[in-house]
Amino acid sequence: QKPILEVQNLKKYYPIRTALGKTKGYIKAVQDISFTIYEGETFGLVGESGCGKSTAGRSLLRLIEPTSGEAYFNGEDIFQHHKRSLKKVRKDLQMIFQDPNTSLDPRKKVGFSIEEALKIHKIGTNQERKQIALQLLKKVGFTEDHYDRFPHEFSGGQRQRIGIARALVLNPKLIICDEPVSALDVSIQAQIINLLKQLQKEFNISYLFIAHDLSVVRHIADRVGVMYLGHLVEQGNTDDIFSNPLHPYTQSLLSAVPTLNPKQKKEKIIIKGELPSPLNPPSGCVFHTRCPYAMDICKQKKPSDIKINAFQSVKCHLYKNETANLII
Ligand code: SF4
Ligand code: MG
Repeated sequence: QKPILEVQNLKKYYPIRTALGKTKGYIKAVQDISFTIYEGETFGLVGESGCGKSTAGRSLLRLIEPTSGEAYFNGEDIFQHHKRSLKKVRKDLQMIFQDPNTSLDPRKKVGFSIEEALKIHKIGTNQERKQIALQLLKKVGFTEDHYDRFPHEFSGGQRQRIGIARALVLNPKLIICDEPVSALDVSIQAQIINLLKQLQKEFNISYLFIAHDLSVVRHIADRVGVMYLGHLVEQGNTDDIFSNPLHPYTQSLLSAVPTLNPKQKKEKIIIKGELPSPLNPPSGCVFHTRCPYAMDICKQKKPSDIKINAFQSVKCHLYKNETANLII
């Protein structure tokens, strides 16, 4: 498998300034996260709101400037590009937002919104652009008649499908999907997920799929990364993460997902306390204030990334490199 995006040590810190403009500290929104997305695959990034997953996604598009790190897309480091030369990269890297309204201009016919990026990149004649938009409308389940309609004539789920058509228009290699179904009814969520999967197969697109809901990610992701307070605490193949979650935080997230299989009785793990402020994150392991297994070492030492297999790794003092067995 060929990597399409390799993110290494991505950090995003927001300075907190005093009234006089002096920096008095940092909000560490994303702390040193690394992951790889392969061609034609979906990497799911999950965690509670405020864990840094959207910030990470947006940094990859440079909608937010990262503080440090590398992100090799097709072998080139996106973070090294000057804003101007980013345009070329942007063509291959698109985004779908939680609220499709943010990308659809209410005064423009949806057909125009779909075509817009072609115009910006000076691709095709007016007629050719319209043809592409009409084809894409069909790909996402509409007819050619919908070309002339306005966003308000569509439901939320339909608008998200327009947003998807819009993201596809430049033939991207990777689409960052930031909670694309979170605002939709459950029945509509499944339709959108299926559409994304179908388009992935057809166009060999990779997705970075950001979500707070693990059950959604299970249906689309080949691999999953779990974020907590800016840290990527565990990642691995979706099947491994769901059948054998290793990080206590992943375990607690999973125990909250209802299961339809009565044989798979799960004990609900209640994590204690509140989510700490990213302004003042806990020392050592960031999860220690809420972890049911916290040990003395957890308060003092940051756990390093322990490799479990080719894809699965976990940041937790309960595991050792070679054996990956629980040491307690
Ligand atoms: Fe819990 Fe310690 Fe593992 Fe952190 S390092 S998740 S506190 S056991
Ligand atoms: Mg978000």
